[in-house]
Amino acid sequence: MKLSRVLGVVCILLFSLLSWSATPPTVTLFVDATSTPRKIFHAKLKIPASPGDLTLYYPKWIPGEHAPDGPVIDLAGLKFTASGKTLKWRRDLLDGFTIHVDVPAGEKEVDAELDFLSPATFEGGFSAGSSATDKMAVISWNQVLLYPKGWKSDDLTYVATLKLPPGWKYGTPLPIASTSLTGQNGDTQIIFQPASLTTLIDSPVITGEFLKVIKLADNPPVEMDVAADSAAALNPPQDVWDHYKNLVEQTNKLFGAHHYRDYHFLYSLSDHVAHFGLEHHESDDSRVGERGLVDEGERKLEAGLLPHEYVHSWNGKYRRPAGLATPDYEQPMQDDLLWVYEGLTNYLGTVLTARSGLLTPEQARDDLSMTAAALDHTPGREWRNLQDTADAAPELYFSPQAWESWRRSTDFYDEGTLDWLWADVIIRQQSKGKKSLDDFCQLFHGAPSTGPMVKTYTFDDVVNGLNQVVPYDWRGFWTERLTNHGPGAPLGGIEGSGWKVVYDESPSEMDRGGEGSGRFIDVAYSIGIDLREDGTITDTIEGMPAALAGIGPGMKLIAVNRRHYSPEVLRDALREGKSSTAPLELLVENTDYFNTYKLDYHGGERYPHLARDESKPDLLSEIYKAK
Ligand SMILES: [Zn+2]
Repeated sequence: MKLSRVLGVVCILLFSLLSWSATPPTVTLFVDATSTPRKIFHAKLKIPASPGDLTLYYPKWIPGEHAPDGPVIDLAGLKFTASGKTLKWRRDLLDGFTIHVDVPAGEKEVDAELDFLSPATFEGGFSAGSSATDKMAVISWNQVLLYPKGWKSDDLTYVATLKLPPGWKYGTPLPIASTSLTGQNGDTQIIFQPASLTTLIDSPVITGEFLKVIKLADNPPVEMDVAADSAAALNPPQDVWDHYKNLVEQTNKLFGAHHYRDYHFLYSLSDHVAHFGLEHHESDDSRVGERGLVDEGERKLEAGLLPHEYVHSWNGKYRRPAGLATPDYEQPMQDDLLWVYEGLTNYLGTVLTARSGLLTPEQARDDLSMTAAALDHTPGREWRNLQDTADAAPELYFSPQAWESWRRSTDFYDEGTLDWLWADVIIRQQSKGKKSLDDFCQLFHGAPSTGPMVKTYTFDDVVNGLNQVVPYDWRGFWTERLTNHGPGAPLGGIEGSGWKVVYDESPSEMDRGGEGSGRFIDVAYSIGIDLREDGTITDTIEGMPAALAGIGPGMKLIAVNRRHYSPEVLRDALREGKSSTAPLELLVENTDYFNTYKLDYHGGERYPHLARDESKPDLLSEIYKAK
């Protein structure tokens, strides 16, 4: 068939008229957070619509969480009206995050009401975990809104208003239009400037009765907005704030440019919120225990969290794997390059933790030795390579601790630290000390400084970037790192940097810190048990003495050599076993039954450290030195 020229012109005209009329809608959103202590948030939206089917999405794939874990199960109170009349709606049968609303003839706008049910009892996890207490909350916008199908999140505009409990302070990177006090009890109402849906969801709000703002840098401004369950939790020694000022300075020196207008560390200190860190372009949502700043031991254990999340503003938000830069929150993300997104971030986070003084070089080395030891005792690498830990990330993020050493976990974080250290060492060796991974970061993530924007990359771009810094078989290096099955962890970086992993009988300061906080009792590298202080066996390492004797995850240690278990009793028995031929006898409870297991183990206590290898230059100390 032949299209007539005239018809063609008409078609083009019609087409351009259609696209002209298709202006992306502006949605107004009102969120009432005054019931935060009851852990329910109310929201109202006005959504432009036309008669027929209005398809709305609840955000499913949450940026930075790398998984379809939007908390749709906590969406309640859903009601749609137009001109005061209630509208029919139905959930899509193929996708639980999709809602279809029947819009009657003549209507141009739909009013939506919804509630978000924030976990009422403690739930771990990411931003869908516990987020509200009697004294504070973090509001993640993706949890309190719907968005219309057919538009990129960059193109949809949201005008948001947020009402907070009386007297509560707040911090957020989202630009504010105005604030006012409303109602009889003086609730705070914040009207935000119109923002794209992308920016809105990327800009959470931290709020609370006890909230402290600490300025860390000017030009561009960087601040910490710290909310806690008590005023006392907000007063650490001054050098804590100084170390975070160093963090901003050292990170900007590392990259040589930045990609935010201003940056807010949103830091939650509470024993009743989920503990994790989530990155954004211009902020992070990081949450630790209430005493995370004031308690020295807790502070050391959490020292790497904010450096990691801050690095993400460059690596993850600005430079992003193409498969993670989706047009909205409905399209699946592809996690295959998380060994760059999370792995490089994890390595740079450890480097900046040392460079900023949040950990001393010795503490940073202790920390690295624990990472190396854990990965070196991961038999699951026999069947699952590093690439598959990234490919399976949406599932692995939610896997239990039981069988972790055989299943493997999201190892692209910690193994990324070892691999990118190795890459850093290779660059330093190949360039005879003239170049380092910092040069790659400046090339890949650096100048010119911009506001928030996304520049995507592929595997080839990473290889090409590294080759621009120093020519090497980077494709071969990374292919081997991603596909090998060991045995053991990739320790080439540690060894090339002039150090080696050794085990001795005295736990390092960082190891003792982990035990002191009650998180674990470190007997993983002696008898092969991941143990909690109360005797709960969270995992056993395949091939090590406990597993060989028949002990498995989920059991509970009751007695050691017939004496009631305590960490001290177990440690004494390990020490005494060195000079005895008798087996170590563990009485263990398993699904209401008690069994005694005999472990033929005489190796004593074993704790990891890094020891200097004097035959090689000390590159690691060079890497950890402040710029
Ligand atoms: Zn991360």
